[in-house]
Amino acid sequence: MTPAQALQKYFGYSEFRHRQEAIIRDILAGKDVLVLMPTGGGKSLCYQLPAVLMDGLTIVISPLIALMKDQVDALNVNGIPAAFLNSSQSPDEQAMITEKLKQGAIKLLYLAPERLFGSGSILINFLKSLPVCLIAIDEAHCISHWGHDFRPEYLMLAGLKNDFPNIPVVALTATADKLTRRDILEKLDLKNPAEFVSSFNRANITYRVLPKKNSFNQLLDFLEPRKEDSGIIYCLSRKSTEALAADLKAEGYAAEAYHAGMDHADKARNQEAFLRDDVKIIVATIAFGMGINKSNVRYVVHADLPKNIEGYYQETGRAGRDGLASDALLLYSYSDATKLKGFARVDGNEEQSTIMLKKLDDMVRYSQLQTCRRQYLMRYFDEDFPDNCGSCDVCLSEVEKFDGTLIAQKALSAVARLKERFGNTYVIDFLRGSKREKIREEHKQLKTYGVGADIHRADWFRYIRELVAQGYLQTTDDEYPVLKLTEKSEAVLKGLQKVELIATQTNEERESEIIPYEAGLLNELKLVRRDIAAPQNVPPYIILSDAVLLEMATYL
Ligand code: ADP
Ligand code: MG
Ligand code: ZN
Repeated sequence: MTPAQALQKYFGYSEFRHRQEAIIRDILAGKDVLVLMPTGGGKSLCYQLPAVLMDGLTIVISPLIALMKDQVDALNVNGIPAAFLNSSQSPDEQAMITEKLKQGAIKLLYLAPERLFGSGSILINFLKSLPVCLIAIDEAHCISHWGHDFRPEYLMLAGLKNDFPNIPVVALTATADKLTRRDILEKLDLKNPAEFVSSFNRANITYRVLPKKNSFNQLLDFLEPRKEDSGIIYCLSRKSTEALAADLKAEGYAAEAYHAGMDHADKARNQEAFLRDDVKIIVATIAFGMGINKSNVRYVVHADLPKNIEGYYQETGRAGRDGLASDALLLYSYSDATKLKGFARVDGNEEQSTIMLKKLDDMVRYSQLQTCRRQYLMRYFDEDFPDNCGSCDVCLSEVEKFDGTLIAQKALSAVARLKERFGNTYVIDFLRGSKREKIREEHKQLKTYGVGADIHRADWFRYIRELVAQGYLQTTDDEYPVLKLTEKSEAVLKGLQKVELIATQTNEERESEIIPYEAGLLNELKLVRRDIAAPQNVPPYIILSDAVLLEMATYL
């Protein structure tokens, strides 16, 4: 039987998608293969079809026990003998499957990695005695620290090539940037792997970012014309998923929460209801979604900033699997970025922190883009893309801009006055008229000192970044980068060139994010107030430092 015939016979499809056929040919030829295909692209078929055509057993490693049953049921319905082994089964059931495996009556066996290598080497030794012909590793990015969904048990798979030296391995994932990809190949020790990278562009998804201001109202505005649609809203904390789901219900939406801290039964119920369209909106942490195959999700909202582009892209990719027009909306706020920075720093070792911070920085950059968001996303995954996709908020000219000429002039003249010898932090503190000692006395005498005091420090960082991006300033490549003027600076300083900047949150909006001070709260949390810049006229409020936010997050 040819692959095309098997496709028709077992799966009922008449054509291969993406590069399925080439992938399958390489697997049949005994090669190791890495498959990158967007979510919903059809990765499973890439190993299921060869499993049918090859003699022997295919072992499928999959991270989620909950999904194995669905996959196995679907295969059995198609007349392909498949089974899984996991802790949810009774000893009798397991013994029955073992017996079938011995008889060669099973073509595909699904396992979680910890199962394969757990409890001594009983299972692996047993499997080695069987005619294994292929090993498929689904969600292979879980093996990498640099991926967005690292699972320690996946590291056990590093020994696979030793146990099955001559068996082809196919690793599959929907999200892996260059670094993660290399990490997968190294950890799994794939031999001369053929790499198949499908286009990651999801042309039917429109990407939008809004500066977060009173997010609940923003959400209601977004949801109003989408009352009949299914969607997922991602939040950072478990607590906020529940709060938001309740608030949406109060507004008449069929919304439910989903997060890893919920009862198994509640999670299953909410997920089921969502799949059946009884519930329209799932408000979830990132625990929700992997392997969920719901084709008519019309929108994905990130109510909080995701940690990195890989996660963001994976999550937005859950919209529009049916190919119909769908929306991805991200609500961006500076304080989210600060919060996540705190997480990135504590989480693990130095090298890892650095990489996580870099990835977060890329995410922040995406949120602040003035150029096509799709192009940025595609380039992030090493795919070239023209600079106008026509269906992101930037290309649709929806991004709110304002005349930032005066701001630009202030920044540029500060850089000039400081003789192009300082980095952005110093320049910004100088602009804001900081009383800090580190600002030199002679600089405090300059007329430019303090001309930017009316602008929030965070906004200054953002404006400077935009000015660099637009070529009105540049930074040196040194360890401590210094801001310098460019050939475009003069025209701005002389008032011959207008500069447009993206609107940010105003101070007023930012204050609404400030957590109200409750007497004793800080004491209770044993926290130290640090660098507290309480906005004027709001005495009972304080701004929480990163460390405080971090500490509080562990209570969420
Ligand atoms: P992935 O694992 O890449 O996210 P799946 O393997 O779950 O995607 O496949 C997504 C859907 O696409 C499934 O419903 C699958 O049956 C379907 N599919 C896969 N290959 C084809 C094909 N060649 N033609 C039509 N549908 C396909
Ligand atoms: Mg899959
Ligand atoms: Zn675009």
